Amino acid sequence: MTSRRDFLRGRISRPAPVLRPPWALDEGDFLAACTRCDACIRACPTGILEHGGTGPVVKFANGECTFCGKCVDACEPGALLRADRPPWSARAAIGPQCLALANVVCRSCGDACPATAIRFHPRLGGAALPAIDNGLCTGCGACVAPCPARAIGIA
Ligand code: SF4
Ligand code: SF4
Ligand code: SF4
Repeated sequence: MTSRRDFLRGRISRPAPVLRPPWALDEGDFLAACTRCDACIRACPTGILEHGGTGPVVKFANGECTFCGKCVDACEPGALLRADRPPWSARAAIGPQCLALANVVCRSCGDACPATAIRFHPRLGGAALPAIDNGLCTGCGACVAPCPARAIGIA
């Protein structure tokens, strides 16, 4: 059974680092290469790229990353570079606002996850608790917007 402590471990909200578009160079190299041309923002079919103070950032409020790579293709300066590496190391984390912790039955995140990375563990006397399998999670962000409690972050 998943305890409250296990559920929360490592998942307490912390200042979220900026999430750059997928396949971004390491932050220092990215900042040096990005010309803030906005081509990636215009290319993204799901509209998840926005202006950040220092270049494009990902916001999952309205959608998910499908890892289509169109942003990378649009990036002529090479600040986004697909090469042979994963798009990012970001993964989903569920915070203490999760309704299940307050015994409200909710499976919105699990229903939205295309990777079936969110499993629900039954609890005696309480709503089943979601747990994310980091081995399956791609950090796509599809679970973020459907969460009624805004409990999920990607970092
Ligand atoms: S990979 Fe596709 S969906 Fe993801 S941010 Fe780039 S353009 Fe958008
Ligand atoms: S397309 Fe490349 S250079 Fe232009 S804003 Fe996006 S990351 Fe920066
Ligand atoms: S970020 Fe994507 S893969 Fe990971 S748990 Fe959320 S919906 Fe599933």
